[in-house]
Amino acid sequence: MPIPLDTRKKPASVKIHVSTGAGVDITWCDGHASHYDFVYLREKCPCAACEDERKKKAAAPFAAGPAASPLPGMGAELPMFKPKPKAAAAHPVGNYAIRFDFTDGHTTGIYSFDYLREICPCDACSREFRSA
Ligand SMILES: [Zn+2]
Ligand SMILES: [Zn+2]
Repeated sequence: MPIPLDTRKKPASVKIHVSTGAGVDITWCDGHASHYDFVYLREKCPCAACEDERKKKAAAPFAAGPAASPLPGMGAELPMFKPKPKAAAAHPVGNYAIRFDFTDGHTTGIYSFDYLREICPCDACSREFRSA
């Protein structure tokens, strides 16, 4: 017998707002609607390199930051300005995933719909999919 499809992870409609930079809207077969900012998606990039990066940060949370706070009134350095990544393009991968070309040059993240539902930023999904 085939495994029943999880309707929570099956998209009914997918809108990717590449030109406006407004992010991604997905309505799922269970009726739930998710909205994702491109910045959020970039942070959650599931590729191996980003996964590694996140693990390193989790393991050494203090290694990356500056050792001391800048002196007040000394033209303290602004936090390094990085333009927020947006999607430059989006490509369907089969019928199970989307791959984004981000404006920071990153193009290897393939976001399956399974994964996208699991990272839905709303509270309900956070409780349902991400409570340990
Ligand atoms: Zn990545
Ligand atoms: Zn949700």
